[in-house]
Amino acid sequence: MNSKKKIEIKGLTLSELEQYFLSIGEKKFRASQVFNWLYNNLVTKFEDMGTLPKGLRKKLNYDFTLKTLTLKEVQNSTLSETKKFLFSTQDDYSIETVLIPGGDRNTLCISTQVGCPLDCKFCATGVMGFKRNLTIGEIVDQYFLTAKEFGKNFISNIVFMGMGEPLINFQNTLGALDIFTSQHNNRISRNRITVSTSGIPDQIRALADSPYRIKLALSLHSAFDDVRSKIMPVNKRFPLADVLDAVRYYSKITDTRITFEYIMLKGINDREEDIRALTKICRSLPSKINVIPFNSIAHMSPEGISQELEPTSKVDIETFVSKLRDNYITVMVRDTQGDDIAAACGQLATKNIKLT
Ligand code: SF4
Repeated sequence: MNSKKKIEIKGLTLSELEQYFLSIGEKKFRASQVFNWLYNNLVTKFEDMGTLPKGLRKKLNYDFTLKTLTLKEVQNSTLSETKKFLFSTQDDYSIETVLIPGGDRNTLCISTQVGCPLDCKFCATGVMGFKRNLTIGEIVDQYFLTAKEFGKNFISNIVFMGMGEPLINFQNTLGALDIFTSQHNNRISRNRITVSTSGIPDQIRALADSPYRIKLALSLHSAFDDVRSKIMPVNKRFPLADVLDAVRYYSKITDTRITFEYIMLKGINDREEDIRALTKICRSLPSKINVIPFNSIAHMSPEGISQELEPTSKVDIETFVSKLRDNYITVMVRDTQGDDIAAACGQLATKNIKLT
């Protein structure tokens, strides 16, 4: 019986696949043919890669697997078009991915880790804890399998804002970006891809120096170190001044505007001094603020400060936003979509992760 462990083909970048073909005496253009079959035609069998000789298709089938994640369940919101996908990994972990349709902008929110080690107090994934990083193939397959479900042209935007901190799983995030932005995968343009981070300065700089030039969002949530450290423990390790230096560098090198994510928490970050401090930060670099209503994480039975958090009221959010706009700051207010299926921002978590 053959017990050879096959390699996930969706975990290979174009140049890695080119190296593979060269190593077996083939021309490297075979790699772009495979990319075209995978990401433009979404094929699920090597035998369907019709432009490759039959013998080569057999060889690929011997060396690689096309099966990475398994789609277990799709939950549909009854209040919006949002859909949440539950996938299982080959080693039986569960991860979630969210599709937010919006006319000509259909955004896929993908995960990069099983759980997350950073323990942000407003986030269900943080409550869940950390199990492991996702492989490049597992990150890419979330896109592949949802595109397969909804048609190859349906997804227009990808945001790395699901479960996990992408910049902790840095190499695999870069690998997935390499695949998403490849010239032979022409579905999604790089200015429609956003990586969201809680703020890891060295990796933000390294991402700026990478060739991918995608957009960056920073989970800011407070302009003050003491408050931010309370709700985002990662701030104790990487204080705001260092993180803001890094995002300024990112903005400068990539010539892009930074998005500051800002979850509104009653009495914690919705005060007058927060408006003044936020204004100061936003004036120091090309940026905009995405204000996000706090979505309950009660489904994870959180403890400590997490269970005390309350959302800022709708009226108070409006006042907060209008004062920022009076200061000429660009502010978007994100709709809460999918909270009825725990698919809204900060709500992703799987209770049925395997026991280790
Ligand atoms: S907000 Fe992001 S970084 Fe923080 S715990 Fe949740 S998934 Fe991790």
